[in-house]
Amino acid sequence: MKHDSFETKAVPVLVPMPAERPYTYAVPAGMSVVPGSIVRVPLGPREVAGIVWDGPGEAVDARKLRAISHVFDCPPVDQAMRRFVDWIASYTLSPPGMVARMILRAPEAFDPEPWVEGLQRAANDPDRMTAARARVLEMASDGMAWTRSGLAHAAGVSSTVIDGLKAQGVFETVMIPPRPVVAAPDPTYGKAELIGDQDIAAKELRGKGEAGGFSVTLLDGVTGSGKTEVYFEAVAAALEKGKQVLILLPEIALTQAFLERFQDRFGAKPAEWHSDLAPKKRERVWRQLAEGGVRVVAGARSALFLPFKELGLIVVDEEHDPAYKQEDRVFYNARDMAVVRGHIGGFPVVLASATPSVESRVNASQGRYGRAVLSARFAEAALPDIKSIDLRRAPPARGGFLSPVLVDHMRRTLEREEQSLLFLNRRGYAPLTLCRVCGHRFQCPSCSAWLVEHRFRGQLVCHHCGHNEKRPEACPECGTLDHLVACGPGVERIAEEVVGHFPDARTIVLSSDMMGGVKRLRLELEAIAKGEADIVIGTQLVAKGHNFPNMTLVGVIDADLGLANGDPRAAERTFQLLSQVTGRAGRTGKKSLGLLQTYQPEHPVMRAIVSGDAEAFYEREILEREKSALPPFGRLAGIIVSADNRPDAESHARLLRRAAPPARDIHVLGPAEAPLAMVAGRHRFRLLVQGDRPADMQGYLRAMLANGPKIRGSVRVQVDIDPQSF
Ligand code: ADP
Ligand code: ZN
Repeated sequence: MKHDSFETKAVPVLVPMPAERPYTYAVPAGMSVVPGSIVRVPLGPREVAGIVWDGPGEAVDARKLRAISHVFDCPPVDQAMRRFVDWIASYTLSPPGMVARMILRAPEAFDPEPWVEGLQRAANDPDRMTAARARVLEMASDGMAWTRSGLAHAAGVSSTVIDGLKAQGVFETVMIPPRPVVAAPDPTYGKAELIGDQDIAAKELRGKGEAGGFSVTLLDGVTGSGKTEVYFEAVAAALEKGKQVLILLPEIALTQAFLERFQDRFGAKPAEWHSDLAPKKRERVWRQLAEGGVRVVAGARSALFLPFKELGLIVVDEEHDPAYKQEDRVFYNARDMAVVRGHIGGFPVVLASATPSVESRVNASQGRYGRAVLSARFAEAALPDIKSIDLRRAPPARGGFLSPVLVDHMRRTLEREEQSLLFLNRRGYAPLTLCRVCGHRFQCPSCSAWLVEHRFRGQLVCHHCGHNEKRPEACPECGTLDHLVACGPGVERIAEEVVGHFPDARTIVLSSDMMGGVKRLRLELEAIAKGEADIVIGTQLVAKGHNFPNMTLVGVIDADLGLANGDPRAAERTFQLLSQVTGRAGRTGKKSLGLLQTYQPEHPVMRAIVSGDAEAFYEREILEREKSALPPFGRLAGIIVSADNRPDAESHARLLRRAAPPARDIHVLGPAEAPLAMVAGRHRFRLLVQGDRPADMQGYLRAMLANGPKIRGSVRVQVDIDPQSF
């Protein structure tokens, strides 16, 4: 890409701060920058990295201008990326500097990684041969360069042996460039033979890739139907055109198996990008991507802000997943922003899911997105048979949570030496602890939430702010000893019950707060896939993407759990989660079963899952949304006003409500206490802004905020455009 360099002595620089526009800086004589250059600039008493932005700098008195202090030796952030930043800032009502900040996440990578000193075989032979020297020469015989310590280690000799050889001219010093983080993928390596629907879908995706230009395709197929194999064809097409590819995955840190599958198809792994990546690796991925060495990234939502050199395809796998929504600083949905990025960059976007979002289904049915459907599981693998267990008729034993029907199926599964998965989306032992004598409930001191008992750790924990305390023996209210009761189940409590029924079975509990973090979780997931567990009890992290070949029974402990909160998106969410978790069963042709424990088997979500009639569910859901003008038929935004005290938050929210300009197609609801009225000591009120589809929501919000009261004290106002829950 060509950049017009300019002669101007002052340029706008976007700094990673909540500033509404770039600041103007002088360019010192002899320094050359272009739009997109990453530079270091003084800001107040500090220096920060920023990005040279487009257009002329603001007219400021030249004598007051501070100067750019350094230009990093780094490929400039390209124009598509700069437009993307501007677009997101405007769409989400975030300061552009805060969006740019997401690009500048690998500060050590702004300058190239230095080359390191290495050794290479030279002309001379050693004066005399020893066993140690022979091993070193053997190692270096292919002429490749080694670092001194690397060679010593590989040959199993001390570094002094190497130094001796170097002194005799057997080795010479060379400089070694930074090692590539991943090898180059080969689009023709390991191509699968695609059949039926798969072949049709792959040809469609390939066609769009080869034609070039922007398009969005919804790849809709049940779990195990081969969506991954199919979108790999789109990846191959992009690679053949010399383009880079981004694959977004909701839980990349835990889906290591995906990297191996990619390797089987392309002969090399993709580079990973997520928050659990080691810092050094992060820097390398960022840099090598900017330089074009890395061709494919598999990443979490933040990978959208990587400085690709020639991005030509984005795949969003599990496009419906709530993990794509960021609700911190800049509120955005990575799936929607991927579509925007494709539009700006003029390339195809593929959205894959077994249970697409209602938004994407509507976009497909209205012709904005293409749709490719895979209707059956691959090969002999059949979808699990799904039944509901009516808890009113087959209740669990007193004090337990497992219906005898479920326990019976678990027993049979054990006898067949197959695996069971019990799913409950609740970490810890019990979601509420109370005193049987005085009724005292343990609540978080800084959130409007109950403390969750974690029995393995002996603690009561707040799942919103992390507050934790030791579980006391006596009630802090009435002082009675040993009368605290755990109410309701968490995964730990289910595990306790399972061990009671099946003391000899190998039982594993998996949840995101497990001791040992991501590393331990990865190991456990691998162990399960290898069959090293009989019964797995897990939260939603086991629902996603994993392939457990021997798993033939999935039991959902509380299928009604997500339906209770009155959120209009609850049915969609529950449908997606239950489809996904039951989809863990029967991946390899064995007969399999999904059981839903529920008090409302007649609920449309349960009926859709049991009958497998997803179409009926979507139709109904889409109609309901249309009737009440909810997204995607209407538009929504939340405005969260928070403060460290309730009156300030409430009065600011009320004044803001009064500042809402009258409009025919937009109205404002609230303020009401936010769904979580207090988090980490901050009191929260929420306004909901609801508009017709063509309404200028952003313009309206801007006017409202500009009209609103001045922000004072601890008050903070955050706009959540397209909120997840409403
Ligand atoms: P999805 O992404 O829809 O869940 P996958 O792509 O993971 O489905 O496919 C499910 C399983 O079937 C995987 O193990 C995959 O390797 C295998 N599979 C799917 N299609 C083919 C094919 N055409 N040839 C060989 N194996 C396939
Ligand atoms: Zn808390």
